[in-house]
Order: sequence, then structure tokens, then C-alpha cells
Amino acid sequence: MALTITNLSKTYPNGVKALKNLSLTIGNNMFGLLGPNGAGKSTLMRTIATLQDPDSGEIFLDNINVLKEKNSVRQVLGYLPQEFGVYPKMNALDMLQHLAVMKGITNSAERKEMIDALLHQTNLWEARKKALSTYSGGMKQRFGIAQALLANPKLIIVDEPTAGLDPAERNRFLNLLSSIGRNVIVILSTHIVEDVRELCPRMAIISNGQLLMEGSPAETLLALRGRIWSKVVSTDGELVALESAFHVVSTHLVGGLHEVRVFSDADPGEGFTPVDAGLEDVYFLNLSNQAKN
Ligand code: ADP
Repeated sequence: MALTITNLSKTYPNGVKALKNLSLTIGNNMFGLLGPNGAGKSTLMRTIATLQDPDSGEIFLDNINVLKEKNSVRQVLGYLPQEFGVYPKMNALDMLQHLAVMKGITNSAERKEMIDALLHQTNLWEARKKALSTYSGGMKQRFGIAQALLANPKLIIVDEPTAGLDPAERNRFLNLLSSIGRNVIVILSTHIVEDVRELCPRMAIISNGQLLMEGSPAETLLALRGRIWSKVVSTDGELVALESAFHVVSTHLVGGLHEVRVFSDADPGEGFTPVDAGLEDVYFLNLSNQAKN
């Protein structure tokens, strides 16, 4: 399957241009859509999920015209939105039953088999009769995935799924996501670089409604090899001097000192040492290039 997005634009009534002529093709397997808050990720996800319309552009899922044939898309879509809204007093089992009926799974034996399997897969079997409103953040997200996986979707969209999870919950959730399979399109929208690094064979970075890069994390990292340099400085003055002299990718506080990472084809000297490029360098480099242009 392939999801083909062409020249998508969206301006909200308040004048915010959330998507600017964005084009992107996404194939099977896990795809990471990385971008800072406000980049336009949720706008794009909601548009693909048929929940809102763009001002212009087209989206095709194979030969389904997503913006026109919304019901056809909804039959093959699993969506875990950023905000799930209010969690009801209803328990997980009853809620999944209800949602499965809404998705058109009318055969009760088939429905039971599917729901039982999902409750086991998401490790919610023990808690299936507890009210959703009593679930922890991690359990809510796993329930979100269970409902998104109902009826064997071909296109799964998860929007900022690990925000607010503690490290153990996040780990469990990412393992669950990675078990979904390679024969479906899974779009993981996130501002967390690690989520993408751990899971996604392909990725894109968007910011200010524009596509900054698209490719494989591994190949992108290879292209940066030997071009990221690091130096630790102790004063703000030194930091400012480096920022004006070099192409600074990022600065981090490490134990009260500034670690400065710069992009340079040649050894910048001045005590810089070569370091392995990380996906975070790819991310910040693309954002800083956009800011410069
Ligand atoms: P992200 O998911 O990457 O954080 P969003 O798609 O939520 O980005 O938002 C992109 C931009 O559009 C932001 O500037 C945001 O404030 C704005 N925006 C999002 N939804 C609305 C809306 N319903 N009305 C007006 N502006 C919006």
C-alpha cells in the first residue's frame, strides 16, 4: 500500500498556515513523522484520518481518493488521536464491543475472538472489566491502540502516543507498536526523536507546515558521518562566540556546562572533537537550516 500526499495546504480561520504545499509518499511499515510542537503534524494526521479538509491538495491511499471517499478510508483506518477526550466509566471490554459494532463487525463470534486477542496483545486482559476512567496513562494509550487495531486496519495513525508516559510505559507501548506488522502503513507522529530512531525504517521531518526531509534514518545518519563535532564550554560568552563562528546544530546543558555540537565538513579546530551523529543532529540540523532560509 502507499499513501500519496500531494501539495496539501491548510490555513486556519485565524490565519495560521498549518500546512504549506506539503507532498509526501508513505509506504508500508512504520513511518516516523517528526516535528516540533506546532509543526502541523496533527493537522496532517487529522486530514489523512478524514476528520478535516485541507484548502487544497490531494491524498490517495492506493487508488482511494481519501478526501472524497471518506467512508472507504474509514473502513481501513485505525486512528489513535492526540487527545482521546473523556474516558468513560465504561470498561474496556464493553467499549471495544461497542466500537467493533460501529466498525461493522456484526458477527458476535468473530467480534469476541478479535477483541479477546487485542486485549491480550495490549496486555489489558486482566483489566478488561475495569472502568477506562481508572486506567493509568500507559493503559489508556494501550487501550487506544487496541481500539485503533479493531477490524484489521491497513492504515494506522498514532499521534504523539508517548507524550506523558513514564519510561517503562513508553517502552511497553513502543514494543506493542513494533509488533503490529510490516504489511500495514503505520504513521507515528511525534516530537520525540527516540521514538522514531527505535521504530521507524523511514521518516520525515516537518516544521512550519513544510517538509524538511524524507528518508531512512540510517542513510541520513551515514551522510552526516564525520561532520558532527562537539565541544564543552563553561561560559555563555564562549557559547555566543561559537554560535557566531560555526554552524551550531544544538547546545545541551550537561552537568551545568554547555555541550555545543557543530556541523562542519572539516575539523573546526578550537578543541572540537568528532562525535557520532545521532538522529537528534539530523533533526536540529534540518530545523536550523529552515530557520536560516
Ligand atoms: P503539531 O501537531 O505539529 O503540534 P498542529 O497541526 O496541531 O501541529 O498545529 C499547527 C499550527 O496550527 C499551530 O500553529 C497551531 O496553533 C495551529 N492550529 C491547529 N489547530 C488549529 C485550529 N483548530 N484553529 C486554529 N489554529 C490551529
